[in-house]
Amino acid sequence: MVKPLVSGKFVALSGGVGGAKLVRGLADCLAPSQLTVVANTADDFDYWGLRICPDLDSITYALADLNDEQRGWGLRDESWVTLEAMRRLDDQQWFQLGDRDLASHLFRTQALRAGQSLTAVTRQLAQRLGSATRLLPMTEQHVATRVFTDIGELEFQQYFVREQCRPAVERVEFAGIDQAELNPEAIAALADPALRGIIICPSNPFLSIDPILSLRGCREAIAEAGVPVVAVSPIISGRAVKGPAAKMMRELNIPSRAAAVASYYGELLDGFIIDEHDNEQCSEIVRMGVECRAAQSMMSDLNTKVQLAAATLSLIEELA
Ligand code: GDP
Repeated sequence: MVKPLVSGKFVALSGGVGGAKLVRGLADCLAPSQLTVVANTADDFDYWGLRICPDLDSITYALADLNDEQRGWGLRDESWVTLEAMRRLDDQQWFQLGDRDLASHLFRTQALRAGQSLTAVTRQLAQRLGSATRLLPMTEQHVATRVFTDIGELEFQQYFVREQCRPAVERVEFAGIDQAELNPEAIAALADPALRGIIICPSNPFLSIDPILSLRGCREAIAEAGVPVVAVSPIISGRAVKGPAAKMMRELNIPSRAAAVASYYGELLDGFIIDEHDNEQCSEIVRMGVECRAAQSMMSDLNTKVQLAAATLSLIEELA
């Protein structure tokens, strides 16, 4: 780890893929005691009787440097013996679970069945896999993303994995959100007097960040924190680096541009980081009352993750 670049504490809101990359960079710029990551759990579901938490696991694996960069999800050096055996029994298996990854799901499911909280088991998994950063599920209650599409209503993983995001999205709902509240540990992190800034990771705004922001107490806690909120665009040159964000924007009649992401977050934001290729959109974002900086935002290795994290923290410092 490099020396902490800034003092004080930070909260990052994150989904899986893009979020995990920036979080990995932040973990190199900050000491573990300085960073709390709040992860989306609306993608969580049950498969083979196990509780699967894709975003929590992507972040945990990235922080522990165990993630598969090539594939973009799951663990490195994975094997697929169990999946192949399951496919011999039932060829309708559409979700891929690797053997090593399965251990995480077994560990979590056992702990949850024994009465532990998701927050507690997430902490244990992170510690045992070798990450010191505090990672929190956004809530202890069950929230499930439902995607309403041109082929009907789909559960999130049916849309994302089984249908490979092909159906056109008409709207998204988070079942259970009215009964769910922001994780009390996240509320405490947002109320910490040492808090210096809140980072919205370059995650899918509709599928990864909206569930967190929609939780009871979340927007209030962010407003009361009174610190700069800076988001990093998941859209580069009009495209998502991975996943359906840009396609969804077009389907939802939102232009698939970085500036449209800033406009979507609206009042919440004090600062926005866009890719250097989108530099010309900065003035438009500034006119929204949001400070904007262009940076190299394609995170292809540890160095680019750390550089983007450092640029994000610098903008927070400037805005403080
Ligand atoms: P999910 O929950 O697994 O879909 O993960 P996220 O919502 O965190 O990540 C998906 C978003 O990450 C997509 O919209 C991508 O465009 C974005 N993303 C992935 N890699 C990068 C990257 O290197 N840079 C930026 N700026 N965005 C990225």
